[in-house]
Amino acid sequence: MVTSPASAQEAQGTVPAAPGGKAAIPIVIAVPCERPSGEQRVATVPEVVQKLTKSGFEIRIEHDAGADAYYPDEFFRAAGAKIVDGRTGLFNGARIVLHVQPPTPAEIDQLAEGTIVIGFMNPANNLDTVARMRDRKITAFALELVPRITRAQSMDALSSQATAGGYVAAILGADNCPKFLPMLTTAAGTIRPATVLILGAGVAGLMAIATAKRLGAIVEAYDVRRAAGEQVRSLGAKFLELEINAEGQGGYARELTPEEKVKEQEMVSAAVARADIVITTAAIPGRKAPVLITRKTVAAMRPGAVVIDMAAESGGNCELTRAGETVREQGVTIIGPRNLPARVAFHASQMYAKNLQAFLSLLVERDGGLVKEFTDEILIASLLVHAGAVCHGPTREMLGGGKA
Ligand code: NAD
Repeated sequence: MVTSPASAQEAQGTVPAAPGGKAAIPIVIAVPCERPSGEQRVATVPEVVQKLTKSGFEIRIEHDAGADAYYPDEFFRAAGAKIVDGRTGLFNGARIVLHVQPPTPAEIDQLAEGTIVIGFMNPANNLDTVARMRDRKITAFALELVPRITRAQSMDALSSQATAGGYVAAILGADNCPKFLPMLTTAAGTIRPATVLILGAGVAGLMAIATAKRLGAIVEAYDVRRAAGEQVRSLGAKFLELEINAEGQGGYARELTPEEKVKEQEMVSAAVARADIVITTAAIPGRKAPVLITRKTVAAMRPGAVVIDMAAESGGNCELTRAGETVREQGVTIIGPRNLPARVAFHASQMYAKNLQAFLSLLVERDGGLVKEFTDEILIASLLVHAGAVCHGPTREMLGGGKA
């Protein structure tokens, strides 16, 4: 059982408790501008602000935090938020900070001990940030650690953002393809539909399949999890069958054996060679992405073919992918986009904000105060750092193991 900073602050008398236990002053939630370049999303939207203020929270939004997602300050103000210019005023007295990306070092240093920060933390790639939050006694919840159980579906930000990413990947593929996607019968002749191949039919892959189908393409898909076949077929796409079932724990894929990898490679290469657009989404949590398209496979692709590598940031599913860049090799365009959900920032922010609203409901008691202990299994699983300790085992080990 983990004691929440709320009870610690109440014990110190810094949070006046009203009769019945309800906080006499509203809990302040701060929403800063996202600093990393290319990040256009914002952690809350006016519709959610309206609901949170009705529930008794005070919401502070940093000036222009929603501007890049097309949520101007005046919309937030009309929804009941206070717009704050400058971080001192934003964080002063804030109990909770909502983020999309991990907080910056400067920001962590500005937060009071016990402040709760919620957002994507990408801990394996941000160990310095984790250590800084630990040392500053920040309480951080990492949304990528929310367990994928039915009760947590409304707070599954990995899925909501993968949905946004899968949609953008299909559009990006169509935009870079020199062909029409649908079949056309015109006075100038008949156009054959383009073939789109999706490798990895998880949340992003399924959304890419649905989007490419709507654009009129012939869609094929492959996943190491045989269970994905039914979902692929229900979207009207063809599922490529390989005599391997690599379903691992919790619905995720396990790593293939060397022999399985050779068989997979042969089948995937043949499908890649006949595709006009290939969208790759294959990932194994916590590991480098598997290479599914080798340099040799690219050489066998059609001129004008496009690869959208959604795994670019975790090493890439194509051997030639360079994260954040577009590579042209023998007439094939290989795009390794970063942060695809940010390209549909308006709706990606809306979905993310609703995920956070659902997550916040776990932190609040019926009387409106913060929970005294983190006993809910979703809170326990997603608690990254708390009270000067790293609570997530794998991250603790990466930081040198030992005690929490
Ligand atoms: P992910 O981003 O971890 O991986 C994407 C896909 O790539 C997965 O479908 C995976 O099987 C596939 N893949 C991995 N290695 C591959 C390879 N070598 N070749 C081809 N494909 C490969 O996946 P995700 O979108 O996060 O979803 C993972 C699973 O979790 C799915 O079964 C999904 O339905 C499930 N899920 C459950 C819930 C829930 O119950 N609340 C929510 C979201 C997702």
